[in-house]
Amino acid sequence: MSSPAANPPATAPAKPSNFLRQIIEHDLAQGTYTARHWGGSPGDAAHHAAGASDPAKIRTRFPPEPNGYLHIGHAKSICLNFGLARDYGGVCHLRFDDTNPEKEDQEYVDAIIDTVHWLGLDWNASFNGVSSTHLYQASDYFDFMYRAAEYLIQAGHAYVDEQSAEEIRINRGDFGAPGVDSPFRNRTPAENLARFREMRDGGHEDGAMVLRAKIDMASPNINLRDPAIYRIRRATHHATGDKWCIYPMYTFAHPIEDALENITHSLCTLEFEDQRPFYDWLLDRLCEGGLLSTPHPHQYEFARLNLTYVVTSKRKLAALVYDHKVKGWDDPRMPTIVGLRRRGYTPEAIQLFAERIGVTKSDSWIDYSTLEGCLRETLDVSAPRAMAVLDPVKLVLTNWDAVMGAGALDECSAPVHPHLPALGRRSFKIGKEVWIDRSDFEETPPKGFFRLFPGNKVRLKYGHVIECTGATRDAAGKVLEVHATLVPDTKSGTPGSDAVKVKGVITWVAAADGIPAEVRLYDRLFTEAQPDAGGKEFLASLNPNSLKVIQAVVEPSLANAKADDKFQFERHGYFVADRVDHSGAKSVFNLAVGLKDSWGK
Ligand code: ATP
Ligand code: MG
Repeated sequence: MSSPAANPPATAPAKPSNFLRQIIEHDLAQGTYTARHWGGSPGDAAHHAAGASDPAKIRTRFPPEPNGYLHIGHAKSICLNFGLARDYGGVCHLRFDDTNPEKEDQEYVDAIIDTVHWLGLDWNASFNGVSSTHLYQASDYFDFMYRAAEYLIQAGHAYVDEQSAEEIRINRGDFGAPGVDSPFRNRTPAENLARFREMRDGGHEDGAMVLRAKIDMASPNINLRDPAIYRIRRATHHATGDKWCIYPMYTFAHPIEDALENITHSLCTLEFEDQRPFYDWLLDRLCEGGLLSTPHPHQYEFARLNLTYVVTSKRKLAALVYDHKVKGWDDPRMPTIVGLRRRGYTPEAIQLFAERIGVTKSDSWIDYSTLEGCLRETLDVSAPRAMAVLDPVKLVLTNWDAVMGAGALDECSAPVHPHLPALGRRSFKIGKEVWIDRSDFEETPPKGFFRLFPGNKVRLKYGHVIECTGATRDAAGKVLEVHATLVPDTKSGTPGSDAVKVKGVITWVAAADGIPAEVRLYDRLFTEAQPDAGGKEFLASLNPNSLKVIQAVVEPSLANAKADDKFQFERHGYFVADRVDHSGAKSVFNLAVGLKDSWGK
């Protein structure tokens, strides 16, 4: 549900600057990316499709590999790339980096598209009344990449190496020792071309040889010691089927994808910093050869998101799913975006988080409570309120029949949202028996306890003042019923209702109209802040108490809750009707986040 539209501020608040914004503003001021740049490149349809028809100022891209579900770290990159494009009047491409057919799947492609849409972002642009759509996949460019590889061979910049993978690894050297040239390094272009075509035509076994860029085996940057750029892999690709049995390496494919799409600012995480020289080397060679036009895209690196109490690696998240540590990619404890969504996160909360953490060039850890705080803040201003009793025990008002009449029910009401009167009021009954939370009664109260104990008066929120008289217990001493008497003429909202002063107010639900609900109390998935730091076995710190399922009673207004609706259960926290299991027949609510940050307390 949305809050009534407030008047928008006259000018949107300025976004805090960061190093990427400064680079972009500088480039725009210098006119670095000119009409010529947008004019397309010789003979390539994809290039024209992506860039020729519109004068975007900047072009960014979000390039996921479709080998898993997106997580909160990806959300940082998504909000950054799409957000910069939006703020500078450009466009952001969604591009699937699908160069690794064994690990990728259409299921992931579809889920990623769905997730980016859900976050409220899209890859459409409109300039001068002409709209365009910018959804791409690396496999669209396999033909171009193949031609680029042949060009590099012919120009003496690449060779086919028949050393084994192990030999290549050993001969690459390390930080202390330069690499050793492959015995195949000085084959002629004609020989290399013949071999490469044999690779393409299926003439060699998987792994028998690779195509390598010919750069510098003594480079201090190991990424420039003749990196592999094409490999033989007989695998069916989800988009190109069995057309290819050779596939480009990611480091070769990625710069080409950026260039073909006229990306201006290619933003990636810091671990790719050492790859930037190869990115530039490759694009410089292809520009020299006339396959691409200048200026080519530039790569800029920013710090990845490290969030405490979760893991953000697709491999590790997949392990949690396949080892049944959680109930799927969308388990509400997962830091996947589908998991966060099912937990009750909204796109606004995730965008607020991305903005709040900012973007820098140095790695750091963000505390999980920062993410939770963003959810709390966005739900506080919008979520309807409701009363719920999570650990119900019956309260009997022993003088009810005498004061109100036998079997009588009295009508109470409360605002749907305390600050949004336009949302109206909700109503519910009160009667002789109501459900209260077990922890709201103490026979002998500890210091500072102002709720129910014999002789004390409290207010049933939105209802009457009552005075506790005691409790009945079973043989084991467990409270069966709490007893109290109604104090007449104290109903909230009636004249003189506050004549009786009380220190405690408790929430409740009438036995007559409360509805049963399953409530899933989620907690952090790991007990350690950095579950996988320093190569630790992350499964060892799984929180055994990350899910507790309870039977609660909730107020009748929640009978109309639809899957995905969010509420504040007063005094308890924010809850969401489960997207999958909640229905008209069975209410299921997930704890999204508590009212206060209480982790570790
Ligand atoms: P994982 O390590 O989970 O497999 P990945 O980096 O391999 O993630 P990609 O699909 O290649 O996953 O990522 C797409 C984009 O998301 C990349 O540009 C990558 O830099 C970015 N990204 C991934 N993880 C994070 C993170 N934790 N913080 C910021 N950006 C991230
Ligand atoms: Mg990656």
